[in-house]
Amino acid sequence: MTSLRKPKKNLSFDALRKALSDHFDNLADPRTADNSQYTVHDTLMSAFACMYFQDPSLLAFQARLEKKHQRSNMQTIFRVRKTPKDSQLRDLTDRISAATLAPCFKDIHERLRRSKYFEDYAVFPETLMCVIDGTTYHSSKLVNCKHCLHKTSKSGETTYSHGILQGAIMYPDKKQVFPVMPEAISNKDGSKKQDCETNAAKRFIQQLRQDYPRQKCISGGDGLMSHQPMIETVMDNNMHYLFVAKPGDHKYLYEWIETFDTLAETSFYSDKDRRHVIRWQNDVPLKDGDDAVRVNFVEYQQFNEDAKMTFRHAWVTDIPLTQDNAVVVARAGRCRWKIKNECFNSLKNQGYELTHNYGHGKANLSLSMYLLTLLALTFHQVCELTDGMYQACREASGAKTRMWEDLRALMRRFLVEDWQQLMDMLINENDYETTAIKRV
Ligand SMILES: [Zn+2]
Repeated sequence: MTSLRKPKKNLSFDALRKALSDHFDNLADPRTADNSQYTVHDTLMSAFACMYFQDPSLLAFQARLEKKHQRSNMQTIFRVRKTPKDSQLRDLTDRISAATLAPCFKDIHERLRRSKYFEDYAVFPETLMCVIDGTTYHSSKLVNCKHCLHKTSKSGETTYSHGILQGAIMYPDKKQVFPVMPEAISNKDGSKKQDCETNAAKRFIQQLRQDYPRQKCISGGDGLMSHQPMIETVMDNNMHYLFVAKPGDHKYLYEWIETFDTLAETSFYSDKDRRHVIRWQNDVPLKDGDDAVRVNFVEYQQFNEDAKMTFRHAWVTDIPLTQDNAVVVARAGRCRWKIKNECFNSLKNQGYELTHNYGHGKANLSLSMYLLTLLALTFHQVCELTDGMYQACREASGAKTRMWEDLRALMRRFLVEDWQQLMDMLINENDYETTAIKRV
């Protein structure tokens, strides 16, 4: 008998935007009453709107619409009552603690969970994989603060930067990834030692457990993570790990593996006669010494039609490997690249202009701008996965970058009722005159 699965609920932009509005409305205003001309909501939502449309000049164009029609798409799509000017937006955003944005990510995950979208992301029953990696989101040779990381080259030139340890929920067959609240890599007050990616990763894991106390989780990461202190942090926080183990980083482990005559193995063929081999050995020491943690080692090799190895990856994990799960574990390990491609690369090179200088600010500006950009990317990922109309827009425009060019162009010229109408205009492109409220 075929089981009929109920279609999943469409998670609309308007529902997500309303939740974001409610959150922004409830944030404390750091200013005194007399200069509160623009609300916290309108400021953060305006910044978010720029990131959502990947358009640094969005506010200027909407101001022109407003001049003509006494309303703009900032009101209709984003429910911004009064749009701040660029400098006002930066000033206030700089004063709002970036940590206050954390619940926004959790809220989206909760919606994806309740609507059963995360069922399709379970690597093992009810177990999600969160892959972590570090990146830099602000760098300057001049502007700096006491929290900046700093590096001085041989020629004596110092570069100041802010980094982030980012996590994202992902699944091998799914293109969309869902970022979680990151951990800043930045120097703390009074600390003489610089912060680093591995320390931020440990804090990230602790925070992830606090934010999602009951979620079964596999933490994925690169070779920087596959060391005992990090593995212990993951285990202490009741999570699984699946970390890249490179021969150069784990000489002792690889020598130990060499002593086995054969490893357990499974293989399969894919298109073009490519052979995929997964080999594993459970219960081996990660390093030399009595205190070494015991890990399970898994290796994936791919061979072309001439039986030549084209690539090889290996990981260590606490998940006991068997004939039944070795392929699943290796595939989960391999999807780690998505955090670079679908998350960091999108943020930096595909329209979000993360490296575009939104400014360092005095306190929170660069981190808050990073988080609002990340939130916009998350909205897009949700729409891509769950919203039929958004998917139709993608189809109508072809490439994603083209779709956003089209949406930006419409957004500048027409006053629309809501986001639905803007998408509708893109899909039915001949119908602008009748569907738009006003044309500039
Ligand atoms: Zn700084």
